[in-house]
Amino acid sequence: MEERSVQKVLILGAGFAGLYTALHLDRLLEKDAPVEITLVDQNHFHLFTPLLHEAASGVIHPGLIMTPIRRLLRKTRVQFLRARVEAVDLSARQVTLCCLALPYDILVIALGSVTHFYNLDSIRSRALEIKSASDAERLRCHVINRFEAATRERNPTRRRRLLTFTVVGGGCTGVETVTELHEFLHHLQAEQYPMIPREEIRTVLVERQDRVLPQMDRTLSRMALQRMRKMGIEVLLNTTVRDWTEESLIFAGEHPPFPTDTVIWAAGVRAPPVVAALPVEKDSLGRAVVDAYLRIPRFPNVYVLGDAAHTRHPQTGEVYPPTAQVAYRQAPVAAANIAADIRGDSPRVFDFTYIGDLVSMGRLSGVADPFGHRLRGFPAWTMWKFYYLLRLVGWQNRLRVALNWLLALLFPAQSAISYECSPECAGELCL
Ligand SMILES: Cc1cc2nc3c(=O)[nH]c(=O)nc-3n(C[C@H](O)[C@H](O)[C@H](O)COP(=O)(O)OP(=O)(O)OC[C@H]3O[C@@H](n4cnc5c(N)ncnc54)[C@H](O)[C@@H]3O)c2cc1C
Repeated sequence: MEERSVQKVLILGAGFAGLYTALHLDRLLEKDAPVEITLVDQNHFHLFTPLLHEAASGVIHPGLIMTPIRRLLRKTRVQFLRARVEAVDLSARQVTLCCLALPYDILVIALGSVTHFYNLDSIRSRALEIKSASDAERLRCHVINRFEAATRERNPTRRRRLLTFTVVGGGCTGVETVTELHEFLHHLQAEQYPMIPREEIRTVLVERQDRVLPQMDRTLSRMALQRMRKMGIEVLLNTTVRDWTEESLIFAGEHPPFPTDTVIWAAGVRAPPVVAALPVEKDSLGRAVVDAYLRIPRFPNVYVLGDAAHTRHPQTGEVYPPTAQVAYRQAPVAAANIAADIRGDSPRVFDFTYIGDLVSMGRLSGVADPFGHRLRGFPAWTMWKFYYLLRLVGWQNRLRVALNWLLALLFPAQSAISYECSPECAGELCL
């Protein structure tokens, strides 16, 4: 009898693109197909990023957006390996992990993105990010430490610096973060820090372009701006950050610096170093350029998906944005194409029409442009809630998050930190 050789499919990254490619591929292949599927991630959980800002403010518990990968794979043939990917050798068809080298026949690179700091070292070394579950907890800890320090600080200039919270980047992540943070700060002041005058707390959003949410239409951008200003958030447009000293945040051009002890950097993403190092065509963000089938043209056995890929709509030529929506939609196409590679069938083109953005803006408000329709306020917020509730992985998580949302409407958010949040010491200030 003829021996069928086993095809090794290796998937790097268990985010929206990688995890769902593994799940779809398992379903598409016959149970006895001679295929080994291995999924690799540095974390043991899949992170649902669209709700990360709510985890930062305590509206939902961070554990609810982290689903153990092994639980999701338990009824599949997919093997999981928790390891950090260090390099990919496309010619040798081999991936180097921290402690071993793995060969592959078909490779899927879905390693997401890293924060883009635009070579601003002062920002890279001190700014907070909002990319991971630990970033969300760190942000809450940081805020509480600033409030604690402000209760002891008698110098008004230093107190102002402690109580000025700045988010840089007016895209979806920046807008969702600043609005959620603003509500969290005011809730915290009212609940636990009445000795801090409310008007001393300053929330600022800095955006380089002439409007927030530049990917949406101008009317929705204007509505979002009005909503933030009505909430009391200062929004600085046409303002580019140049440096952040111990004292102040410094801008290019005319805008005067202002003192702030908190910068949350949400000003963009770029490809992770493993992808940026690939010897293939890349864009200015280091993302690998893929063809209409999501493969690297010179290496048709290698797929790059999600934030790590530069993908264009095959008809319009528009570059897809780095969103979970796109990564999630690429997964079934990549899985179908891998199954087709294995069977010797023709691949499918990825031609998904982007349905638009949904942006939450704090309690009961948001903006959205599903299929070109403009929504704002409560309808947009409701749509955002339902959409992401349905996208969460598993009924257990959906039910728990829905209960958390309900509780957050009835009671104040949970502000205590579930891990050790120690006071930090910086110079004379013990924060
Ligand atoms: C705060 C925030 C809010 C967002 N909100 C939305 C939203 O509302 N809607 C939306 O559509 N998009 C949203 N996004 C964008 C969305 O999260 C990304 O576009 C999406 O996660 C990309 O999917 P991906 O599979 O490419 O990467 P990811 O989901 O980031 O997955 C990458 C995986 O690779 C793993 N990994 C990375 N490097 C290594 C390595 N060297 N070794 C091993 N494993 C590694 C990571 O642990 C991760 O599990 C948001 C992003 C953030 C940060």
